[in-house]
Amino acid sequence: MTPEEFRRHAHAMVDWMADFLDGVEQHPVRAQTRPGEISARLPESPPDMGEAMETIFADFQRDVMPGITHWQHPRFFAYFPANSSPPSVLAEMLTATLGAQCMLWQTSPAATEMETRVLDWLRQMVGMPRGFTGVIQDSASSAILAAILTAREKATGWGVNAEGLKAHPPMAIYTSEQTHSATEKNVKIAGLGLAGFRKIPVDDAFRLRVDSLEAAIEADLAAGIRPVCVVASIGGTGVGAVDPLRAIGELCRRYDIFLHVDAAWAGSALICPEHRWMFDGIELADSVVFNPHKWLLTNFDCSAHYVKDPDALVRTFSILPEFLKSREADAVFDYRDWGVPLGRRFRALKLWFVIRSYGVEGLRTIIREHVRLGGLFAAWVEADPDFEIMAPPMLSLINFRFHPSGVDDPADLDRLNEALLHRINDDGRIYLTQNRVGGRYVIRMSIGQTRTEQRHVEEGWAVIRELASE
Ligand SMILES: *Cc1c(COP(=O)(O)O)cnc(C)c1O
Repeated sequence: MTPEEFRRHAHAMVDWMADFLDGVEQHPVRAQTRPGEISARLPESPPDMGEAMETIFADFQRDVMPGITHWQHPRFFAYFPANSSPPSVLAEMLTATLGAQCMLWQTSPAATEMETRVLDWLRQMVGMPRGFTGVIQDSASSAILAAILTAREKATGWGVNAEGLKAHPPMAIYTSEQTHSATEKNVKIAGLGLAGFRKIPVDDAFRLRVDSLEAAIEADLAAGIRPVCVVASIGGTGVGAVDPLRAIGELCRRYDIFLHVDAAWAGSALICPEHRWMFDGIELADSVVFNPHKWLLTNFDCSAHYVKDPDALVRTFSILPEFLKSREADAVFDYRDWGVPLGRRFRALKLWFVIRSYGVEGLRTIIREHVRLGGLFAAWVEADPDFEIMAPPMLSLINFRFHPSGVDDPADLDRLNEALLHRINDDGRIYLTQNRVGGRYVIRMSIGQTRTEQRHVEEGWAVIRELASE
Protein backbone atom coordinates (compact mmCIF):
# COMPACT_ATOMS: atom_id res chain seq x y z
CA MET A 1 0.00 0.00 0.00
CA THR A 2 1.45 3.35 -0.99
CA PRO A 3 1.32 6.29 1.42
CA GLU A 4 -1.32 7.88 -0.82
CA GLU A 5 -3.48 4.75 -0.77
CA PHE A 6 -3.10 4.53 2.99
CA ARG A 7 -4.29 8.12 3.33
CA ARG A 8 -7.31 7.48 1.11
CA HIS A 9 -8.38 4.29 2.90
CA ALA A 10 -7.81 5.84 6.30
CA HIS A 11 -10.06 8.78 5.47
CA ALA A 12 -12.76 6.46 4.15
CA MET A 13 -12.58 4.31 7.27
CA VAL A 14 -12.73 7.30 9.61
CA ASP A 15 -15.90 8.37 7.80
CA TRP A 16 -17.27 4.87 8.30
CA MET A 17 -16.28 4.97 12.00
CA ALA A 18 -18.05 8.28 12.59
CA ASP A 19 -21.20 7.06 10.79
CA PHE A 20 -21.11 3.77 12.67
CA LEU A 21 -20.90 5.42 16.09
CA ASP A 22 -23.59 7.89 15.11
CA GLY A 23 -25.93 5.11 14.03
CA VAL A 24 -24.94 2.35 16.43
CA GLU A 25 -28.47 2.33 17.90
CA GLN A 26 -29.80 0.90 14.63
CA HIS A 27 -28.02 -2.41 15.24
CA PRO A 28 -29.26 -5.25 17.45
CA VAL A 29 -27.20 -5.04 20.64
CA ARG A 30 -26.24 -8.70 20.90
CA ALA A 31 -25.14 -10.37 17.68
CA GLN A 32 -28.03 -12.38 16.33
CA THR A 33 -25.92 -14.97 14.49
CA ARG A 34 -25.86 -18.71 15.23
CA PRO A 35 -22.64 -20.60 16.11
CA GLY A 36 -20.56 -21.20 12.98
CA GLU A 37 -22.44 -18.69 10.86
CA ILE A 38 -19.52 -16.26 10.61
CA SER A 39 -16.81 -18.87 10.16
CA ALA A 40 -18.83 -20.30 7.26
CA ARG A 41 -18.38 -16.96 5.50
CA LEU A 42 -14.61 -16.94 5.92
CA PRO A 43 -12.47 -18.81 3.38
CA GLU A 44 -10.84 -21.93 4.76
CA SER A 45 -7.40 -21.00 3.41
CA PRO A 46 -5.50 -17.71 3.23
CA PRO A 47 -5.21 -15.90 -0.12
CA ASP A 48 -1.97 -16.43 -2.04
CA MET A 49 -2.11 -13.02 -3.63
CA GLY A 50 -2.84 -9.70 -1.99
CA GLU A 51 -6.39 -8.37 -2.30
CA ALA A 52 -7.68 -4.84 -2.74
CA MET A 53 -8.48 -2.93 0.43
CA GLU A 54 -11.91 -2.09 -1.03
CA THR A 55 -12.66 -5.84 -1.19
CA ILE A 56 -11.37 -6.53 2.31
CA PHE A 57 -13.34 -3.65 3.77
CA ALA A 58 -16.52 -4.63 1.93
CA ASP A 59 -16.17 -8.18 3.32
CA PHE A 60 -15.65 -6.73 6.79
CA GLN A 61 -18.96 -4.94 6.51
CA ARG A 62 -20.81 -7.86 4.98
CA ASP A 63 -19.33 -10.87 6.80
CA VAL A 64 -17.94 -9.58 10.06
CA MET A 65 -20.29 -6.86 11.25
CA PRO A 66 -23.32 -9.16 11.68
CA GLY A 67 -21.30 -11.16 14.21
CA ILE A 68 -20.40 -8.17 16.36
CA THR A 69 -22.11 -7.59 19.70
CA HIS A 70 -22.32 -3.85 20.17
CA TRP A 71 -20.67 -2.89 23.42
CA GLN A 72 -20.78 0.76 22.28
CA HIS A 73 -24.58 0.60 21.93
CA PRO A 74 -26.42 2.87 24.38
CA ARG A 75 -28.85 0.03 25.18
CA PHE A 76 -26.02 -2.31 26.21
CA PHE A 77 -26.98 -3.26 29.78
CA ALA A 78 -25.16 -6.61 30.07
CA TYR A 79 -22.10 -7.60 32.17
CA PHE A 80 -20.29 -4.37 32.95
CA PRO A 81 -19.68 -1.79 30.22
CA ALA A 82 -16.47 -1.83 28.17
CA ASN A 83 -16.62 1.77 27.09
CA SER A 84 -14.84 3.59 24.37
CA SER A 85 -15.16 7.25 23.48
CA PRO A 86 -14.13 9.31 20.46
CA PRO A 87 -10.95 10.72 22.07
CA SER A 88 -9.94 7.22 23.13
CA VAL A 89 -10.44 5.85 19.61
CA LEU A 90 -8.34 8.68 18.17
CA ALA A 91 -5.53 7.89 20.60
CA GLU A 92 -5.75 4.20 19.67
CA MET A 93 -5.23 5.18 16.05
CA LEU A 94 -2.05 7.02 16.99
CA THR A 95 -0.87 4.14 19.18
CA ALA A 96 -1.40 1.72 16.30
CA THR A 97 0.40 4.05 13.94
CA LEU A 98 3.43 4.41 16.19
CA GLY A 99 3.40 0.68 16.81
CA ALA A 100 5.87 1.15 19.62
CA GLN A 101 6.82 -1.72 21.87
CA CYS A 102 7.01 -0.18 25.32
CA MET A 103 8.61 -2.92 27.40
CA LEU A 104 11.58 -0.86 28.63
CA TRP A 105 11.97 2.82 29.32
CA GLN A 106 14.45 3.08 26.42
CA THR A 107 12.08 1.38 23.96
CA SER A 108 9.89 4.50 24.25
CA PRO A 109 10.63 6.85 27.14
CA ALA A 110 7.44 8.86 26.53
CA ALA A 111 5.27 5.77 26.94
CA THR A 112 6.81 4.87 30.29
CA GLU A 113 6.88 8.41 31.65
CA MET A 114 3.34 9.17 30.53
CA GLU A 115 2.10 5.90 32.05
CA THR A 116 3.53 6.85 35.43
CA ARG A 117 2.12 10.36 35.15
CA VAL A 118 -1.43 9.59 34.04
CA LEU A 119 -1.73 6.82 36.60
CA ASP A 120 -0.83 9.35 39.22
CA TRP A 121 -3.54 11.64 37.81
CA LEU A 122 -5.97 8.77 38.16
CA ARG A 123 -4.80 8.08 41.71
CA GLN A 124 -5.63 11.67 42.61
CA MET A 125 -8.93 11.48 40.72
CA VAL A 126 -10.22 8.56 42.81
CA GLY A 127 -8.91 10.04 46.07
CA MET A 128 -6.22 7.46 46.81
CA PRO A 129 -3.40 8.67 49.07
CA ARG A 130 0.16 9.19 47.92
CA GLY A 131 2.36 6.16 48.30
CA PHE A 132 0.75 4.07 45.56
CA THR A 133 2.61 3.69 42.26
CA GLY A 134 0.68 2.76 39.14
CA VAL A 135 1.14 0.49 36.16
CA ILE A 136 -1.28 -0.31 33.34
CA GLN A 137 -2.11 -4.01 33.06
CA ASP A 138 -4.11 -5.61 30.27
CA SER A 139 -6.83 -6.67 32.70
CA ALA A 140 -7.90 -6.76 36.32
CA SER A 141 -7.28 -10.50 36.14
CA SER A 142 -3.60 -9.85 35.46
CA ALA A 143 -3.42 -7.41 38.37
CA ILE A 144 -4.93 -10.02 40.69
CA LEU A 145 -2.38 -12.55 39.47
CA ALA A 146 0.44 -10.07 40.10
CA ALA A 147 -0.94 -9.49 43.62
CA ILE A 148 -1.18 -13.19 44.44
CA LEU A 149 2.31 -13.91 43.11
CA THR A 150 3.78 -10.97 45.04
CA ALA A 151 1.99 -12.12 48.18
CA ARG A 152 3.32 -15.66 47.68
CA GLU A 153 6.88 -14.43 47.18
CA LYS A 154 6.82 -11.98 50.09
CA ALA A 155 5.52 -14.69 52.40
CA THR A 156 8.30 -17.10 51.40
CA GLY A 157 11.15 -14.59 51.12
CA TRP A 158 11.08 -15.03 47.32
CA GLY A 159 11.51 -18.72 48.02
CA VAL A 160 8.93 -20.17 45.64
CA ASN A 161 10.51 -18.35 42.73
CA ALA A 162 13.81 -19.97 43.70
CA GLU A 163 12.88 -23.42 44.94
CA GLY A 164 9.34 -24.07 43.75
CA LEU A 165 6.30 -24.73 45.90
CA LYS A 166 7.36 -28.12 47.23
CA ALA A 167 9.96 -26.59 49.52
CA HIS A 168 7.31 -24.52 51.35
CA PRO A 169 4.35 -25.16 53.63
CA PRO A 170 0.89 -24.83 52.04
CA MET A 171 -0.54 -21.33 51.70
CA ALA A 172 -4.07 -19.92 51.86
CA ILE A 173 -5.83 -17.08 50.01
CA TYR A 174 -9.04 -15.48 51.28
CA THR A 175 -11.82 -13.70 49.51
CA SER A 176 -15.59 -13.47 49.78
CA GLU A 177 -18.28 -15.56 48.12
CA GLN A 178 -18.92 -12.48 45.98
CA THR A 179 -15.44 -12.31 44.47
CA HIS A 180 -14.93 -12.32 40.72
CA SER A 181 -14.02 -15.68 39.18
CA ALA A 182 -10.62 -14.20 38.28
CA THR A 183 -9.46 -14.72 41.86
CA GLU A 184 -10.04 -18.48 41.72
CA LYS A 185 -8.45 -18.70 38.28
CA ASN A 186 -5.34 -16.92 39.54
CA VAL A 187 -5.04 -19.11 42.63
CA LYS A 188 -4.80 -22.01 40.20
CA ILE A 189 -2.31 -20.23 37.93
CA ALA A 190 -0.13 -19.29 40.91
CA GLY A 191 0.17 -22.98 41.78
CA LEU A 192 -1.32 -22.50 45.24
CA GLY A 193 -4.11 -24.99 44.64
CA LEU A 194 -7.81 -24.62 45.30
CA ALA A 195 -7.25 -26.60 48.52
CA GLY A 196 -5.98 -23.32 49.97
CA PHE A 197 -8.66 -21.09 48.45
CA ARG A 198 -11.12 -19.81 51.07
CA LYS A 199 -14.42 -18.24 50.07
CA ILE A 200 -15.51 -16.43 53.23
CA PRO A 201 -19.27 -16.03 53.84
CA VAL A 202 -20.92 -12.63 53.45
CA ASP A 203 -23.44 -10.72 55.57
CA ASP A 204 -26.92 -9.57 54.54
CA ALA A 205 -25.41 -6.77 52.45
CA PHE A 206 -23.13 -9.26 50.62
CA ARG A 207 -20.03 -7.94 52.46
CA LEU A 208 -17.22 -10.24 53.52
CA ARG A 209 -17.69 -11.16 57.20
CA VAL A 210 -14.56 -10.09 59.04
CA ASP A 211 -15.24 -12.39 62.00
CA SER A 212 -15.43 -15.37 59.64
CA LEU A 213 -12.25 -14.21 57.92
CA GLU A 214 -10.39 -14.09 61.22
CA ALA A 215 -11.71 -17.53 62.21
CA ALA A 216 -10.53 -18.96 58.88
CA ILE A 217 -7.08 -17.41 59.31
CA GLU A 218 -6.78 -18.82 62.82
CA ALA A 219 -7.89 -22.26 61.67
CA ASP A 220 -5.27 -22.25 58.91
CA LEU A 221 -2.51 -21.13 61.25
CA ALA A 222 -3.43 -23.91 63.67
CA ALA A 223 -3.24 -26.40 60.79
CA GLY A 224 0.21 -25.23 59.68
CA ILE A 225 -1.12 -23.40 56.61
CA ARG A 226 0.34 -19.98 55.86
CA PRO A 227 -2.23 -17.18 55.22
CA VAL A 228 -0.70 -15.04 52.46
CA CYS A 229 -3.31 -12.92 50.71
CA VAL A 230 -6.79 -11.42 51.03
CA VAL A 231 -8.62 -10.18 47.93
CA ALA A 232 -11.32 -7.67 48.91
CA SER A 233 -14.06 -6.60 46.49
CA ILE A 234 -15.18 -3.03 46.06
CA GLY A 235 -18.13 -3.37 43.69
CA GLY A 236 -18.28 -7.12 43.11
CA THR A 237 -19.57 -8.34 39.79
CA GLY A 238 -22.82 -9.98 40.87
CA VAL A 239 -24.53 -7.38 43.04
CA GLY A 240 -21.77 -4.78 43.46
CA ALA A 241 -20.73 -5.97 46.94
CA VAL A 242 -18.50 -3.57 48.90
CA ASP A 243 -16.32 -5.29 51.49
CA PRO A 244 -15.45 -3.44 54.74
CA LEU A 245 -11.98 -2.38 53.70
CA ARG A 246 -10.75 -0.78 56.89
CA ALA A 247 -11.64 -3.73 59.11
CA ILE A 248 -10.13 -6.17 56.60
CA GLY A 249 -7.02 -3.99 56.26
CA GLU A 250 -6.49 -3.86 60.01
CA LEU A 251 -6.83 -7.63 60.22
CA CYS A 252 -4.32 -8.07 57.40
CA ARG A 253 -1.84 -5.79 59.17
CA ARG A 254 -2.23 -7.78 62.37
CA TYR A 255 -1.53 -11.09 60.64
CA ASP A 256 0.96 -9.71 58.10
CA ILE A 257 -1.19 -10.70 55.12
CA PHE A 258 -1.02 -9.04 51.70
CA LEU A 259 -4.24 -7.15 50.88
CA HIS A 260 -5.36 -6.70 47.28
CA VAL A 261 -8.42 -4.58 46.48
CA ASP A 262 -10.44 -5.48 43.38
CA ALA A 263 -12.47 -2.42 42.37
CA ALA A 264 -12.46 -3.31 38.66
CA TRP A 265 -15.84 -1.77 37.87
CA ALA A 266 -16.75 0.53 40.78
CA GLY A 267 -13.32 2.14 41.05
CA SER A 268 -14.08 4.57 38.23
CA ALA A 269 -17.10 5.92 40.14
CA LEU A 270 -14.76 7.08 42.89
CA ILE A 271 -13.85 10.10 40.80
CA CYS A 272 -17.10 11.37 42.36
CA PRO A 273 -16.38 12.24 46.00
CA GLU A 274 -19.83 11.03 47.12
CA HIS A 275 -18.74 7.42 46.42
CA ARG A 276 -15.35 7.57 48.15
CA TRP A 277 -16.69 5.99 51.36
CA MET A 278 -16.08 2.67 49.60
CA PHE A 279 -12.34 3.28 49.73
CA ASP A 280 -12.28 4.08 53.45
CA GLY A 281 -9.17 2.19 54.65
CA ILE A 282 -7.57 2.00 51.19
CA GLU A 283 -4.26 3.16 52.69
CA LEU A 284 -4.06 -0.28 54.35
CA ALA A 285 -4.07 -2.06 50.97
CA ASP A 286 -0.91 -3.41 49.35
CA SER A 287 -2.37 -3.27 45.87
CA VAL A 288 -5.50 -1.98 44.15
CA VAL A 289 -6.93 -2.38 40.67
CA PHE A 290 -9.70 -0.71 38.71
CA ASN A 291 -10.52 -0.70 35.02
CA PRO A 292 -10.76 2.58 33.10
CA HIS A 293 -11.65 0.21 30.25
CA LYS A 294 -14.94 -0.50 31.96
CA TRP A 295 -16.52 2.74 33.07
CA LEU A 296 -14.05 5.52 32.28
CA LEU A 297 -14.55 5.85 28.51
CA THR A 298 -11.16 4.33 27.68
CA ASN A 299 -10.94 1.51 25.16
CA PHE A 300 -10.09 -1.97 26.32
CA ASP A 301 -7.39 -2.77 27.42
CA CYS A 302 -6.52 -0.43 30.26
CA SER A 303 -6.44 -1.68 33.84
CA ALA A 304 -5.03 0.68 36.46
CA HIS A 305 -2.99 -1.33 38.95
CA TYR A 306 -1.48 0.38 42.02
CA VAL A 307 1.09 -1.04 44.38
CA LYS A 308 2.44 0.18 47.70
CA ASP A 309 5.77 -1.56 47.25
CA PRO A 310 6.88 -1.59 43.60
CA ASP A 311 10.16 -3.28 44.56
CA ALA A 312 8.30 -6.34 45.81
CA LEU A 313 6.33 -6.55 42.55
CA VAL A 314 9.42 -6.08 40.39
CA ARG A 315 11.42 -8.58 42.40
CA THR A 316 8.64 -11.11 41.85
CA PHE A 317 8.67 -10.74 38.07
CA SER A 318 12.11 -9.55 37.01
CA ILE A 319 14.49 -11.58 34.92
CA LEU A 320 17.48 -10.04 33.26
CA PRO A 321 18.90 -11.72 30.19
CA GLU A 322 21.72 -9.86 28.49
CA PHE A 323 19.62 -8.49 25.62
CA LEU A 324 17.24 -6.74 28.00
CA LYS A 325 19.89 -4.96 30.05
CA SER A 326 19.88 -1.21 29.69
CA ARG A 327 22.13 1.60 30.82
CA GLU A 328 19.31 3.51 32.52
CA ALA A 329 17.78 0.59 34.45
CA ASP A 330 18.56 2.01 37.89
CA ALA A 331 17.10 5.44 37.15
CA VAL A 332 13.83 4.57 35.39
CA PHE A 333 10.91 2.15 35.41
CA ASP A 334 11.12 -0.76 33.03
CA TYR A 335 7.49 -1.79 33.07
CA ARG A 336 8.19 -5.22 31.59
CA ASP A 337 9.12 -6.22 35.17
CA TRP A 338 5.70 -5.19 36.50
CA GLY A 339 3.63 -8.03 35.05
CA VAL A 340 3.54 -11.17 32.93
CA PRO A 341 4.02 -10.04 29.29
CA LEU A 342 7.31 -8.66 28.12
CA GLY A 343 5.83 -6.62 25.27
CA ARG A 344 3.54 -3.72 26.05
CA ARG A 345 1.46 -1.33 23.98
CA PHE A 346 1.43 2.43 24.54
CA ARG A 347 -1.82 2.31 26.49
CA ALA A 348 -1.31 5.46 28.55
CA LEU A 349 -1.93 7.64 25.50
CA LYS A 350 -5.66 6.93 25.30
CA LEU A 351 -6.08 7.65 29.00
CA TRP A 352 -4.25 10.94 28.56
CA PHE A 353 -6.52 11.84 25.63
CA VAL A 354 -9.68 10.90 27.55
CA ILE A 355 -8.83 12.71 30.78
CA ARG A 356 -7.74 15.85 28.93
CA SER A 357 -10.63 15.82 26.51
CA TYR A 358 -13.42 15.40 29.09
CA GLY A 359 -11.69 16.85 32.14
CA VAL A 360 -12.32 15.25 35.51
CA GLU A 361 -15.54 17.22 35.85
CA GLY A 362 -16.80 16.01 32.47
CA LEU A 363 -16.15 12.39 33.43
CA ARG A 364 -17.93 12.92 36.76
CA THR A 365 -20.97 14.29 34.97
CA ILE A 366 -21.23 11.13 32.85
CA ILE A 367 -20.85 8.73 35.79
CA ARG A 368 -23.32 10.72 37.90
CA GLU A 369 -25.87 10.52 35.11
CA HIS A 370 -25.45 6.72 34.91
CA VAL A 371 -25.91 6.44 38.66
CA ARG A 372 -29.00 8.65 38.47
CA LEU A 373 -30.43 6.43 35.72
CA GLY A 374 -29.71 3.36 37.87
CA GLY A 375 -31.77 4.89 40.67
CA LEU A 376 -34.58 5.71 38.27
CA PHE A 377 -34.67 2.17 36.87
CA ALA A 378 -34.67 0.67 40.38
CA ALA A 379 -37.61 2.91 41.30
CA TRP A 380 -39.60 1.75 38.24
CA VAL A 381 -38.96 -1.91 39.11
CA GLU A 382 -39.97 -1.31 42.70
CA ALA A 383 -43.18 0.43 41.71
CA ASP A 384 -44.28 -2.40 39.40
CA PRO A 385 -46.20 -5.16 41.21
CA ASP A 386 -45.05 -7.75 38.65
CA PHE A 387 -41.33 -7.17 39.28
CA GLU A 388 -39.07 -7.18 42.32
CA ILE A 389 -35.62 -5.94 43.29
CA MET A 390 -33.42 -8.89 44.35
CA ALA A 391 -30.44 -7.10 45.93
CA PRO A 392 -29.89 -3.52 47.08
CA PRO A 393 -29.12 -1.47 43.94
CA MET A 394 -25.49 -0.43 43.82
CA LEU A 395 -24.40 2.64 41.80
CA SER A 396 -25.95 1.76 38.42
CA LEU A 397 -26.25 -2.01 38.94
CA ILE A 398 -29.69 -3.48 39.61
CA ASN A 399 -30.56 -7.15 40.19
CA PHE A 400 -34.26 -7.82 39.70
CA ARG A 401 -36.71 -10.42 38.48
CA PHE A 402 -40.13 -10.84 36.96
CA HIS A 403 -42.55 -12.09 39.61
CA PRO A 404 -46.14 -11.98 38.34
CA SER A 405 -48.89 -12.71 40.84
CA GLY A 406 -49.83 -16.36 41.04
CA VAL A 407 -46.33 -17.69 40.30
CA ASP A 408 -44.62 -18.41 43.60
CA ASP A 409 -42.72 -21.65 43.23
CA PRO A 410 -39.00 -20.68 43.28
CA ALA A 411 -38.07 -23.13 40.51
CA ASP A 412 -40.93 -21.83 38.33
CA LEU A 413 -39.72 -18.27 38.86
CA ASP A 414 -36.18 -19.30 37.90
CA ARG A 415 -37.44 -20.87 34.67
CA LEU A 416 -39.68 -17.92 33.90
CA ASN A 417 -36.86 -15.40 34.31
CA GLU A 418 -34.40 -17.49 32.35
CA ALA A 419 -36.92 -17.72 29.49
CA LEU A 420 -37.55 -13.97 29.71
CA LEU A 421 -33.85 -13.17 29.55
CA HIS A 422 -33.38 -15.34 26.44
CA ARG A 423 -36.44 -13.72 24.89
CA ILE A 424 -35.03 -10.24 25.61
CA ASN A 425 -31.62 -10.98 24.14
CA ASP A 426 -33.02 -12.74 21.07
CA ASP A 427 -35.15 -9.67 20.47
CA GLY A 428 -32.00 -7.56 20.13
CA ARG A 429 -33.25 -4.14 21.21
CA ILE A 430 -31.46 -4.41 24.54
CA TYR A 431 -28.87 -6.76 26.04
CA LEU A 432 -28.91 -7.99 29.64
CA THR A 433 -27.20 -10.78 31.56
CA GLN A 434 -28.21 -13.02 34.44
CA ASN A 435 -27.02 -13.62 37.98
CA ARG A 436 -27.87 -15.79 40.97
CA VAL A 437 -28.85 -14.13 44.24
CA GLY A 438 -29.48 -16.43 47.19
CA GLY A 439 -29.55 -19.30 44.72
CA ARG A 440 -32.32 -17.70 42.64
CA TYR A 441 -32.06 -16.76 38.96
CA VAL A 442 -32.20 -12.99 38.54
CA ILE A 443 -31.75 -10.49 35.72
CA ARG A 444 -28.94 -8.02 36.04
CA MET A 445 -29.23 -4.48 34.65
CA SER A 446 -25.93 -2.63 34.41
CA ILE A 447 -26.09 0.97 33.16
CA GLY A 448 -22.92 2.76 32.12
CA GLN A 449 -22.40 2.87 28.37
CA THR A 450 -20.79 6.12 27.18
CA ARG A 451 -23.87 7.09 25.13
CA THR A 452 -26.65 5.88 27.43
CA GLU A 453 -29.29 8.53 28.10
CA GLN A 454 -32.57 8.41 29.98
CA ARG A 455 -34.52 7.57 26.83
CA HIS A 456 -32.45 4.40 26.37
CA VAL A 457 -33.19 3.23 29.90
CA GLU A 458 -36.88 4.04 29.36
CA GLU A 459 -36.82 2.01 26.14
CA GLY A 460 -35.10 -0.81 27.99
CA TRP A 461 -37.75 -0.92 30.69
CA ALA A 462 -40.49 -0.82 28.07
CA VAL A 463 -38.93 -3.78 26.21
CA ILE A 464 -38.62 -5.79 29.45
CA ARG A 465 -42.27 -5.18 30.36
CA GLU A 466 -43.50 -5.83 26.83
CA LEU A 467 -41.69 -9.16 26.52
CA ALA A 468 -42.58 -10.19 30.09
CA SER A 469 -46.28 -9.59 29.41
CA GLU A 470 -46.13 -11.96 26.45
C1 LIG B 1 -14.59 -7.17 35.27
C2 LIG B 1 -14.10 -7.59 36.60
C3 LIG B 1 -12.92 -8.34 36.74
C4 LIG B 1 -12.15 -8.86 35.56
O1 LIG B 1 -11.71 -7.83 34.78
P1 LIG B 1 -10.75 -8.08 33.51
O2 LIG B 1 -10.11 -6.75 33.33
O3 LIG B 1 -11.66 -8.46 32.41
O4 LIG B 1 -9.81 -9.15 33.88
C5 LIG B 1 -12.47 -8.62 38.02
N1 LIG B 1 -13.15 -8.20 39.10
C6 LIG B 1 -14.30 -7.49 39.00
C7 LIG B 1 -15.00 -7.03 40.24
C8 LIG B 1 -14.80 -7.16 37.75
O5 LIG B 1 -15.93 -6.45 37.64
